[in-house]
Amino acid sequence: MTQRPESKLFYQSRRRRPLLDQARGVYMWDVDGKRYLDGSSGAMVCNIGHSNPHVLECMRRQMDKSSFGYRLHFETEPAEQLAQKLASLAPEGLEKVFFVSGGSEAVESAIKLARQHAVATGDSQRYKVISRYPSYHGCTLGALALTGYAPMTAPFDPMMQSMPKIPAPRAYLDGLDPEDEATGKFYADMLEEAILQEGPETVLAFMVEPVGGASTGALPPPKGYMQRISEICRRYGVLLIHDEVMTGGGRTGAFFAGDHWQVEPDILVLSKGLGAGYAPLGAMIAHERIVEPVLDKGGFIHGYTYAGNPLACAAGLAVIEEIEAHQMMANASSIGAELKAGLQQLMQRHELIGDVRGKGLLLAFELVADRETMAPLPREAGAFDKLVEIAYDKGLIIYSRRTRGGYTGDHFLVCPPMIATANHLDEILTTLDASLT
Ligand code: PMP
Repeated sequence: MTQRPESKLFYQSRRRRPLLDQARGVYMWDVDGKRYLDGSSGAMVCNIGHSNPHVLECMRRQMDKSSFGYRLHFETEPAEQLAQKLASLAPEGLEKVFFVSGGSEAVESAIKLARQHAVATGDSQRYKVISRYPSYHGCTLGALALTGYAPMTAPFDPMMQSMPKIPAPRAYLDGLDPEDEATGKFYADMLEEAILQEGPETVLAFMVEPVGGASTGALPPPKGYMQRISEICRRYGVLLIHDEVMTGGGRTGAFFAGDHWQVEPDILVLSKGLGAGYAPLGAMIAHERIVEPVLDKGGFIHGYTYAGNPLACAAGLAVIEEIEAHQMMANASSIGAELKAGLQQLMQRHELIGDVRGKGLLLAFELVADRETMAPLPREAGAFDKLVEIAYDKGLIIYSRRTRGGYTGDHFLVCPPMIATANHLDEILTTLDASLT
């Protein structure tokens, strides 16, 4: 192993990770030459694989011309073209694009746009943004206020106003059938109850991940849920915000996960799959009717220095070109279905797996002590850490989220890049099988 000096970096803990050397396609290598299959695309980011030649070439060309132009001084072609492209992909009417550098920034922007729209249209008593638990919407204080995950929010409680939350629909835990429309209605009606309880005149927006990400573990909504929450929002004048930070960019088999249910939010945000690991990039896309009153009343009071930076936007544009040129969304659907079937087979062989779920290539399995009760494994058993470690040792990277205080299950996201082939699936499933054994 290559000797390394004590690190001056710190993240969540002191644990050291291998030193990354290079990455190509679905594989990554550390400086000791060990190869890893990137079974989670980083954190569901590197959707089109690593070192894509077209993206690198477009970024190089842009860097040769200019790598930065401050948005208050210049418009740039990549930002303009990417905005046009995103508007053409977004649901009808969502035509106005605001660039940011990541998911949390995108969520902050959506909250602030919604609030400024309420003020501009004489509805300034509306300020509450309802969200769900468990959920994850980002680490900045505004996004954290909407995050339904106490282990992450509790330390900051006096510093932010926590917002009202309703349960995310976890039919598999409640013993309900997600294919039954009554299940979707059961959970969606909780939104109506919350709006009525808070006082509809005070409720600004509802924020939802169309397919749950790291929090619920790739959990798709039950039948009818998305349509019904959309109707409820319209009925009470509550803005609907889709957090597509993880789902946006094709991973679920559609460019926006909301497209699967033909619901049109007022605002949507995306990030991870847009920059796809090539650039820190995110976007908020809002309906014209939300943006125009704000611009008319003195402007949108919000902005980031790096917003719309031409290098990041050139990367984003090239990423979408590659997704389209190589039918990667269709691949995410078909290869995703195969991978899900493979995980279901693993579930038949390994009692430890209590549930397999997901859409497209946003997939997860959950470890349990008992399938009947879905009780998590006792921490002392150490199975969670062991599985991550063994898979890592065998050269497979999966994204793990351990249950904390019962907020989520012990789940693992299996989300390789959308360029994964049948051979890659075999490698993932064989390694998981051996690791679980
Ligand atoms: N929303 C969702 C649904 C996410 O999955 C994430 C990141 N995991 C965020 C927001 C925050 O994004 P970022 O980490 O880029 O700030």
